[in-house]
Amino acid sequence: MAFRIVAHCTNCWACLSLCPQQAIRAASPHFQINADRCTECVGDYADPQCASICPVEGAIIDAAGQPLNPPGSLTGLSPEFPTLSSTS
Ligand code: SF4
Ligand code: SF4
Repeated sequence: MAFRIVAHCTNCWACLSLCPQQAIRAASPHFQINADRCTECVGDYADPQCASICPVEGAIIDAAGQPLNPPGSLTGLSPEFPTLSSTS
């Protein structure tokens, strides 16, 4: 039971100090979650603290590979929102 930070992470530091298990560490090329420590915040918080603060969609994924903040969840823009290139 652990989440994972992936390449979309911009190393913004927002999540690091919020983790109740000290499971997140600054690393290169992006921050990492120690799977042995991450409890998905169960027992500490109702929501995963890292995903709650993370400003980047798709930067944190669950064990099934699904983003905790999927496309559109933070921007409010639908992933299907037409782009200039798709309408021209
Ligand atoms: S889900 Fe909770 S315990 Fe796991 S890395 Fe994020 S803040 Fe830490
Ligand atoms: S809050 Fe998100 S973008 Fe910022 S360091 Fe953590 S995982 Fe990376």
